[in-house]
Amino acid sequence: MKCVKCGQKAAINMRHHKLALCKDHFLEWIPAQTQRFIEKYRMFSLQDKVLVAVSGGKDSLSLWDILQRLGYQADGLYIGLGIDGGIGYSNESQRLCEEFAKSHGLRLRVVSVGAEFGETIPELSLRTIRGKEKPCAVCGLTKRHIMNRAARDGGYDVLATGHNLDDETATLLGNTLNWIPGYLVRQGPVLEADKPGLVRKVKPLCRIYERDMAAYAILRGIEYIYEECPHAVGSNSIFYKELLNNLEAERPGAKINFYVAFLQAKENGLFAAQADPDLDKLHACPSCGQPTSAPGMCAFCRMTAKA
Ligand code: SF4
Ligand SMILES: [Zn+2]
Ligand SMILES: [Zn+2]
Repeated sequence: MKCVKCGQKAAINMRHHKLALCKDHFLEWIPAQTQRFIEKYRMFSLQDKVLVAVSGGKDSLSLWDILQRLGYQADGLYIGLGIDGGIGYSNESQRLCEEFAKSHGLRLRVVSVGAEFGETIPELSLRTIRGKEKPCAVCGLTKRHIMNRAARDGGYDVLATGHNLDDETATLLGNTLNWIPGYLVRQGPVLEADKPGLVRKVKPLCRIYERDMAAYAILRGIEYIYEECPHAVGSNSIFYKELLNNLEAERPGAKINFYVAFLQAKENGLFAAQADPDLDKLHACPSCGQPTSAPGMCAFCRMTAKA
């Protein structure tokens, strides 16, 4: 198989795009695609200050790499969850983010959940849900709270996350199978800051396959954590990703078609009548000042307030 641009030996064959590229052309193509989607969905400009949420994984570190190559002002945010899982998951992912920042001369902000709130994610979940379930709901709530606060207080125009096409289609499949209109309305490449205190969120990699992002990280020589968070095992999102991979193996391009057709349907007004039911109820949490639809304090402040 040969690179369609230069005829050299191809390093990757993307059946979903009917495109084979050599290493050099692939390493140019991924940032060019990312730039295309940043512009298409009007995510941010060269004048904006961007905060990239980095986890130590391939997608977020590659996103940070791509943004700085494209000339954007992008700082990183690492959230220390305090998850060990027998593999020192949080310590290792923090180390890799710090190494990446240092070697690229970039600024990394670190927020440790344990140091800041007195309890790590496993401790918080043990106290609040008595460890009966996975800590993912507690973890998701905490990450959203910290990401919004760090971006708002740090004076950033936008928060960027490394969600790739596989993440987005797995979420979309879950929302569609359960037919959750409120989530479908809000899913997309950009989540607008439609209330005071909310920071704009964007997903510049939302149209790039996970497999291609892994190839980018490896070919670019980015050192990232291979292990998933130990709590991700058995999650719905992994199950949906496997289903979609089976579909993709038979029908190359199925994932990108599913996602782009959804965005097109939204643009054509499919969900126009479905206003976000929580938007009108939003008010500032009396404890942290972040917008919430819960009566009184926000869910995060209620969870971290000890009895
Ligand atoms: S899988 Fe791990 S990082 Fe992801 S939400 Fe669950 S606990 Fe948090
Ligand atoms: Zn080439
Ligand atoms: Zn609050």
